[in-house]
Amino acid sequence: MNRQVLMKIKVDDITEKPKLLSFEEPFDVFPSLVEIQKAGGCVFLAPLSIELKACKEYDHLRVSGSVTSKIRVNCSRCLTSFDSDLDLVFTIFYTEANRLGVEEEELELAEEDLVSVSYVGNEIDFSSEVAEQVIMELPLKPLCNDECKGLCPSCGVDLNEVDCECERSVFNLKFSALKNFRVDS
Ligand SMILES: [Zn+2]
Ligand SMILES: [Zn+2]
Repeated sequence: MNRQVLMKIKVDDITEKPKLLSFEEPFDVFPSLVEIQKAGGCVFLAPLSIELKACKEYDHLRVSGSVTSKIRVNCSRCLTSFDSDLDLVFTIFYTEANRLGVEEEELELAEEDLVSVSYVGNEIDFSSEVAEQVIMELPLKPLCNDECKGLCPSCGVDLNEVDCECERSVFNLKFSALKNFRVDS
């Protein structure tokens, strides 16, 4: 079953007075999030709660929003999977596509965390940009804990749970090899 997300709004319905919209959508209505989960980036454990506030400003529409959900990711050091809260806020400026000159100027002025997108027609579908914001928020190198010790590169044990003797034995091996060399010569 392919359900479409209905996160659309008519441009004419957006006025200077902020309009609040809220959605609760399972991740699998967003094709790009399905791709991320398939690729092993993370597992979405809960639907996405999306709050948007849209208003008209000068020649563009300002949409600020937040997304919360729960994800399961794998620690980049010890590979253990753990659950993490997804909680992000964003602001997107929507500018009508035929105002290209204006849009370029805005892009230069925009702060780093502001996204500028153009739209065509009288309807805006927020879903792809919202999914994009979620993807940007996913941790590139998730850590189960800032202090995670990771896996031993020699024997592969989880150093958070076991203290292996690898470093010492590598050293002993080298040391005895050196000794033998001396004895032999
Ligand atoms: Zn870890
Ligand atoms: Zn080891």
